[in-house]
Amino acid sequence: KVKAEGKNAFRIFDAALEAESQERRELEADLREAIARNQLELHYQTIASLTDRRVAGAEALLRWRHPRRGFVSPDLFIPIAEESGLIVPIGAWAIARACRDAASWPVDIPVSVNVSTAQLDRGDLFAVVMENLKTSGLPARRLELEVTETIFLRDDEALLSDLRRLHGHGVRLALDDFGTGYSALGYLRRLPFDKIKIDRSFIGPIGTDTQAAAVVCAVANLARSLDIETTAEGIETEAQAMLVAAAGCNLGQGFLFSSPVPHRNLDFRSLPGDLPTPAASRAHLPPA
Ligand code: C2E
Ligand code: MG
Ligand code: MG
Ligand code: MG
Repeated sequence: KVKAEGKNAFRIFDAALEAESQERRELEADLREAIARNQLELHYQTIASLTDRRVAGAEALLRWRHPRRGFVSPDLFIPIAEESGLIVPIGAWAIARACRDAASWPVDIPVSVNVSTAQLDRGDLFAVVMENLKTSGLPARRLELEVTETIFLRDDEALLSDLRRLHGHGVRLALDDFGTGYSALGYLRRLPFDKIKIDRSFIGPIGTDTQAAAVVCAVANLARSLDIETTAEGIETEAQAMLVAAAGCNLGQGFLFSSPVPHRNLDFRSLPGDLPTPAASRAHLPPA
């Protein structure tokens, strides 16, 4: 009996796996179509200066409006795009679009674009970026490329060379989702980062979890001593904004300031909220 049940469980498991890979193949085919049919969009989320609540930048985030499924989450389709190699044309499109959009902004702030390892590996990132800076007229210092720690996992120097060359031309580099991977401090020496983005898993609990708060403080202090900016990701409440400012982060991003919006809805006016004062910041700290 046990054996039969075991076999049955295995069959169910097998069927589930099969359904999942079927779904992936379908999405991959749809994604190919989406590129051809212009169903991909870039939305933008503003990044706030925590000291004066001015808009200090905006991050470009891919959106896929699927004809039957509606919006598909990047967390679902980006991995498929990476494994299939489709991220190379999609990423090049995103860079082109972001450069063109940002060149039309009324303010002198950078646009941030996410870059996957596969674009460094199989793509021609250096040529794509240089070409689009030229055609859009966007100054190199107004483009920021966000990479995650995964680019260091393979320990392949060649992967980093396009980023180093682009930085040499003035393009800014940001280390995204810091704290989620190995977060080896040595990574900060392997590329000339201008910014560290502290992952939102540390920001969410910052008001209640003293360890999360300590990590944010430590990273912000380290960054400052290396002359690197820090963005706190996923700020949803005024209390979190106060605390990350008190911890030493100079920039913040999250639903408190703005959700990602279509380009035409991007608003460059000052963001709502209070300016941090030392007393106000202390009021939000978890009890010692
Ligand atoms: P990411 O680069 O870390 O982007 C930040 C994500 O956090 C975005 O999710 C954003 O919508 C979300 N977010 C912003 N503020 C808040 C907040 O206050 N609370 C919460 N809970 N979430 C917030 P999104 O747009 O779903 O993108 C997910 C990931 O997909 C991105 O994470 C990035 O890794 C990837 N991605 C998006 N666009 C691109 C792209 O053009 N190229 C590549 N290679 N990856 C991209
Ligand atoms: Mg990012
Ligand atoms: Mg991030
Ligand atoms: Mg992320």
